[in-house]
Amino acid sequence: MSAPGVDPDGVVGEVVVSELELRRRIDELGTAITDDYAGRPPLLVGVLKGAFTFMSDLSRAIHLPVEIDFMAVSSYGSATRTSGVVRIVKDLDADLAGRHVLVVEDIVDSGLTLSYLQRYLWARGPASLEVCALLVKDGRQRTELDLRYVGFRIPPAFVVGYGLDVGERLRNLPAVHTYLGQQVPTVGGGR
Ligand code: 5GP
Repeated sequence: MSAPGVDPDGVVGEVVVSELELRRRIDELGTAITDDYAGRPPLLVGVLKGAFTFMSDLSRAIHLPVEIDFMAVSSYGSATRTSGVVRIVKDLDADLAGRHVLVVEDIVDSGLTLSYLQRYLWARGPASLEVCALLVKDGRQRTELDLRYVGFRIPPAFVVGYGLDVGERLRNLPAVHTYLGQQVPTVGGGR
């Protein structure tokens, strides 16, 4: 891959999902959400930091008076991968009671983070709670998840770009790529 400005160390591999594929699929998701939520505009809840790019594009593909809020979570190191317990670093500003909440997530790996968040958000009394995940890693989920909208199912390798980082870098790559670095970082560390 040639992106010397963004990737001086040459750790960015082949394209997994291209800019064009992202644009087309996000338009389709936006249309489906627009149809499904007609008359009950959702509150879009993004999970920082990885979902910021997807939220920006998805929200503009939805033709409804949506509201947007963000929360930030951080993992408890390796415990997260076994228990799915996450720490809420930034909570929502919005009151969820009676709202139609649509969680906008960048990537689902084990699914434990999302499963925790769903329990956490249900406790706030929303009228409905659904998930729109851009990427889902095939064969990795360790918990039953109800994902209403999925962008792409991808092989279970570590990926970067389009919001997804390694050590806080590479989020600004416009497409999703494989990562060629020696060490696969602790998943969930940078969110
Ligand atoms: P899960 O709880 O589903 O195992 O992990 C979800 C979180 O881990 C994602 O929101 C994301 O922050 C991080 N993550 C999982 N897989 C990847 C990946 O391939 N690349 C990057 N950069 N982050 C990932």
